[in-house]
Amino acid sequence: MQRSVYSFGNGRADGTRDMKRTLGGKGANLAEMTNLGVPVPPGFTIAADQCMTYLANSQVTEELRQEVATALSQLEEASGKRFGDASNPLLVSVRSGAAVSMPGMMETILNLGLNDATVAGLAAASSNPRFAWDSYRRFVQMYSDVVMGVPIHRFEQLLATKRLVTGAASDAELSAEALQSLVGEYHQLVHAVTGQPFPHDPQVQLWGAIEAVWQSWTLKKAVDYRRVNSIAHDLGTAVNIVSMVFGNMGDDSGTGVAFTRDPSTGEHRFYGEFLVNAQGEDVVAGIRTPLPIEEMAQRLPGAYEQLLETQHRLEQHFRDMQDIEFTVERGKLYLLQTRTGKRTTPAALRIALDMVDEGLITPRDAVKRIQPAQLDQVLHRVIAATAHATPIAVGLPASPGAASGMAVFDPDVAEQRAQRGEQVVLVREETTPEDFHGIVAARAVLTARGGMTSHAAVVARGMGKCAIVGCAALEISHEQRSMKVGDVTVTEGEWLTLDGGTGRVFLGDLPTQPSEVMRVINGVVAPEDAPSYQRFHRLMTWADEDRRLRVRANVDTPRDARVARNFGAEGIGLCRTEHMFFEGDRITAMREMIVARDEGGRRRALDKLLPMQRADFEGIFQAMDGLPVTIRLLDPPLHEFLPHGGEESSLLAASLGLSRQELQRVVSALRETNPMLGHRGCRLGIVFPEITEMQARAIFEAAVRAQRRGIDVRPEIMVPLVSDVSELRHQRAIIERAAEQVMGVMGDQVQYLVGTMIELPRAALTADEIATEADFFSFGTNDLTQTTFGLSRDDAGRFLPHYLDRGLLPDDPFQVLDVKGVGKLIRMAVRDGRDTTPGLKVGICGEHGGDPRSVTFCHESGFDYVSCSPFRVPVARLAAAHAALAS
Ligand code: ADP
Ligand code: MG
Ligand code: MG
Repeated sequence: MQRSVYSFGNGRADGTRDMKRTLGGKGANLAEMTNLGVPVPPGFTIAADQCMTYLANSQVTEELRQEVATALSQLEEASGKRFGDASNPLLVSVRSGAAVSMPGMMETILNLGLNDATVAGLAAASSNPRFAWDSYRRFVQMYSDVVMGVPIHRFEQLLATKRLVTGAASDAELSAEALQSLVGEYHQLVHAVTGQPFPHDPQVQLWGAIEAVWQSWTLKKAVDYRRVNSIAHDLGTAVNIVSMVFGNMGDDSGTGVAFTRDPSTGEHRFYGEFLVNAQGEDVVAGIRTPLPIEEMAQRLPGAYEQLLETQHRLEQHFRDMQDIEFTVERGKLYLLQTRTGKRTTPAALRIALDMVDEGLITPRDAVKRIQPAQLDQVLHRVIAATAHATPIAVGLPASPGAASGMAVFDPDVAEQRAQRGEQVVLVREETTPEDFHGIVAARAVLTARGGMTSHAAVVARGMGKCAIVGCAALEISHEQRSMKVGDVTVTEGEWLTLDGGTGRVFLGDLPTQPSEVMRVINGVVAPEDAPSYQRFHRLMTWADEDRRLRVRANVDTPRDARVARNFGAEGIGLCRTEHMFFEGDRITAMREMIVARDEGGRRRALDKLLPMQRADFEGIFQAMDGLPVTIRLLDPPLHEFLPHGGEESSLLAASLGLSRQELQRVVSALRETNPMLGHRGCRLGIVFPEITEMQARAIFEAAVRAQRRGIDVRPEIMVPLVSDVSELRHQRAIIERAAEQVMGVMGDQVQYLVGTMIELPRAALTADEIATEADFFSFGTNDLTQTTFGLSRDDAGRFLPHYLDRGLLPDDPFQVLDVKGVGKLIRMAVRDGRDTTPGLKVGICGEHGGDPRSVTFCHESGFDYVSCSPFRVPVARLAAAHAALAS
């Protein structure tokens, strides 16, 4: 029979770090630390699958009860204490812990096993009645809140009243007697609210807590977190039962959290916070302001030495930055948790590169450690140097990036306003897991309390969202939906700008500027002067060594082409020509062409457009010297170029020498019921071949001119919206004739390719035939998704969110390529196309080209390249490397 309970402690453990699926992250690492000889209080872990079993049956199996009883008696033996023993009681914590860390999602219960009898035993054994009653008070409060649903603020009220009537300035000044009477009041409160007595039987307490952990798997905040982070809902959570160690036994005790390196910058220094004479979550809760970890050297010297040695050992063992929790009980150090620490992208880059230099990991490990989507963060904007604003307050820089938004003081309001398309900054005293949806909705998070390891800081960093925490100058009034800083009052809806990199808070909507990496890319700063760019570049160079897929960019102008090249683009996968017709007097020539009565009139207008197009292409060839450039022929329906009524129409009619009625007739004639499926793409070039001819001539003339200037040109001409090979054959003939003419007249040869976009299901279905006329296929996955699903992307906003909410679709198919349907068509087209034309070049130019999961699909389907917007090029390069390393 498969076991369900795994013990650890006293130098041996049943589990290892590799058993996260069974033991959860926390349990697996508690076992691993035990195996390493790191001091961990003994305990045991209930396997995660028991959570799903319980949730399915709503009852605990007899087998599990037996296994837990056995593990508990071993724990009693090892500690020499007994659970529920009035003279020397064993106390435990009950902690959740899923395979994937879900910060702050499920509450831990400490000091379980205390009751009116055992509290006396604890007082006697510790010779410290105050400590015993304080622990009991915390336990009743936590247990009643988490397991019995008594609101925590009811306890806080009683506590505050007790402080008031006894004249205690803080909780720490409450006497044993005061705490004892407080516990009595707590018991009455529980009875009054729930109609039941607080459970005194430790076994009842234990199982109540275990079941509560299991049930917490289905809490809204947990479900939300899993949805946002794509964590499977059927993993379940393990439950860890750990014998208590006490950081609140006096001034030789304490508790803290630390990172083996700086999670914000990545600097190689031990970084953390601790509190003397405190327990559990006091540090992260931000109730007392913790001390920097270095001060532990004076306060708890022996334990500090041991902590330094232990954190180093853990990092060497796990070969990654660790986030650790520890407690010191009367000078003795215990580790309660270690896990891979969350970090900002700049920190992730620095840590990975440093660890390569330290010989801890290989360059390939470093590449694998940076998630493609994370790169957005080093491309983030920062507040513009020209903004010359004075901050109204400064807090801790918990997560970088600059963001502006309207202040809101409530997570529900944040969510509502964001749904209306507003930018909001969530301002809170401190955040709790209940605020999660508000953090998701906000552009940035600002809290008045809490340190760099507080809930807000950890969650925002994980999401790559700007956050400032511990901004003590803020006085927040939740009721009035406002905050005060000095004599400034900010009410809901007023704009704030946050600089998460420096912790500065500004009034108003300040201008932001590109990050250091972006400034190098834009050529404003030299690489030598930009250490963060150098790290980015070093990692990307390693990634390039590992990938097989080429990465191109979708750009329409020489300027964007240069930026794309600096981002590492290896060509242009999509240059749209229609944008070129909108600028200045081009639109007039374009309109003349559209309203012309006959071919002659059209040709006269096209002759005006030709030199302008040629100049555009020449600039692009120059910027892409030595790299392929895919140019798509005119694609949108012609009516998009015409004004629709009003003054502009009158002016146009006048300038074209038409009456308004005549112009109106042209416009009406072009109106379509469904333009997306109408007269567009190659259908334009088939009805008006002179358009294709002009574009082809402009391309070839530009190519010859550029080539004469020593530029290596590689044009690839792409025919859009083909559904049958005959269309491509028709267009190809025009293009080839233009090539012959231009090259004949100019006397120079240029190598070029002619291919097509595969963006209609019929094109994919007849790819074998289409390939006979194509040198390349480029999958236009935006249109292919629209036409395969039979839904218009512009209208999908009304119903697609419902599909996602209800899980009818796993992802938005316009963001993540629908592998099942659209992907099937693509795979088939690639296979059939290459059967006809071996070596057929294959790429993708839809927005999916910059989405990591879609890039993986392209890699696996044997594509030659992906093409995406310039900003996504680094993301695609890294995703391509990950895909290659995974296969
Ligand atoms: P989280 O997942 O929210 O970090 P944990 O289970 O790690 O929850 O526990 C919350 C706090 O309680 C941490 O500060 C942890 O160190 C402390 N803690 C948990 N178990 C014990 C124990 N057996 N003895 C002392 N402190 C504990
Ligand atoms: Mg917790
Ligand atoms: Mg923890």
